[in-house]
Amino acid sequence: MKSIKRTKIIATVSDINCNEEKLIDLYNAWTNIIRFNFSHAQQDAVAKLLEIIKDLNDSWKTNLSTLLDTKWPEIRTGNVQEKVIVKKWDHFKIFVDESLLVEPQDIFCDYNYLLEDVKKDQIIIIDSWLLKAKVIKVTPTYVVVEALNDHSIWSRRHVNLPGVNLKLPGITDKDESDILFAIEHNIDLIAASFIRHQTNVIEIKSLLKQHNAEHIQIISKIENQEALANLEWIVKESDGIMVARGDLGVEIEISTLPYHQKVIMDTCFTYGKTIIVATELLKSMVESPFPTRAEVSDVYNSVILRTDCTMLSDETAVGKFPIQSCQMMTDVILEAEQHTNNKHKDFEITFTTDYALDKKMIAKNALFVADQVKADYILLFTNSWFLARVVSAYKPNHTVFAFTKDLKVLRSMNFLFAIYPFLIESWGKYPIEDEKKALAYLESNWFVKKGQKIIVINDVVEGNAVSPYVKVINL
Ligand code: PEP
Repeated sequence: MKSIKRTKIIATVSDINCNEEKLIDLYNAWTNIIRFNFSHAQQDAVAKLLEIIKDLNDSWKTNLSTLLDTKWPEIRTGNVQEKVIVKKWDHFKIFVDESLLVEPQDIFCDYNYLLEDVKKDQIIIIDSWLLKAKVIKVTPTYVVVEALNDHSIWSRRHVNLPGVNLKLPGITDKDESDILFAIEHNIDLIAASFIRHQTNVIEIKSLLKQHNAEHIQIISKIENQEALANLEWIVKESDGIMVARGDLGVEIEISTLPYHQKVIMDTCFTYGKTIIVATELLKSMVESPFPTRAEVSDVYNSVILRTDCTMLSDETAVGKFPIQSCQMMTDVILEAEQHTNNKHKDFEITFTTDYALDKKMIAKNALFVADQVKADYILLFTNSWFLARVVSAYKPNHTVFAFTKDLKVLRSMNFLFAIYPFLIESWGKYPIEDEKKALAYLESNWFVKKGQKIIVINDVVEGNAVSPYVKVINL
């Protein structure tokens, strides 16, 4: 009998080194979602991988959903011929007009509002924490900063201005082009980088709406202080939230990162939104076949804190042990899930349908029934993904096999905690026919067996009438 983890895994792949074999291996190590990071990936190469995933999915060798992670309007230093060498306590100048650079230590920053947005004592982070500098003086043409450590700055390094409300566009032309690519190539989820305000999410939503692609789920990445300040609004507007610990750990004091991770997760619980914990969960496996004890604890504790998904970045994109990383994550998740007992806490729904409350209460109580009768699995039938989303948000203690006849709904269910989606070609005249068909399929594929107890949650009734119900089946 298969032991099925409820926490979902997102594996990042590189468009340069990924192929069919790797995708199958990742899937067999229990990856649910393949992520393309468009900070680096190219549309042409990703399009080829998407074709491969489509073929694998069509032949049911895999059941993978796809996620496109946008680049975002980054701030960077300029191009240099030689590294700019900076020693601790050196004072050097940062310009926003590249033509004014004179001294060997002068550097350029492509954020036009730097001179008006930073003040004395503002911390500027260059090259992802490799250089920390403090603003000493702001002049009309440059900023003088003091280096707080030694570093050599190479071309086009990241610049972060922690605590500054950046005057950057929500989505750039590149992001828009990548989102249109996502729509055209049937990507299931968009992870929007550096969301700072709910209007950034609304902007993406309206772009999706203009192209009849509202089924694409929007994950807002929380990665700076402005996003933390607007967290509740962003959570309400999004389908899910990624705790993007890489950049967030640069933008805030790193010692406060676990606290903010918890705050973000709690806000998601309030609104029943899907949570992704991302970055460096098994980082040492980029180079080593084994994780550190601390990394194992990080994955374990993320599950205990009730994340819906965990994400692998470099581990699967460029690491030497991508499949082992994914299998390790699966093993730790399975272990942690044995020690969780979810209480199915209430949450607010930020989107409504006519039957929202009925379905919510049916879902919640079905999970209590499943716990009390010690069910083995839950079986769910749904036309839209609403019921699955609500069931998932109540954090089931059981794996949920969800049947739908809509392929888009199926793929969007893949990132929901505990939900394992299957396709049913057409609904029968009566729900009992669908139940029989689904159970026969699950039994013949070794997911369920005689003697087990199954809870059924159904909101599909012939003629699209909706009348959700719960029942107990003893196989
Ligand atoms: C992060 O910053 O943690 C993250 C997931 O974003 P990216 O991989 O694009 O840096």
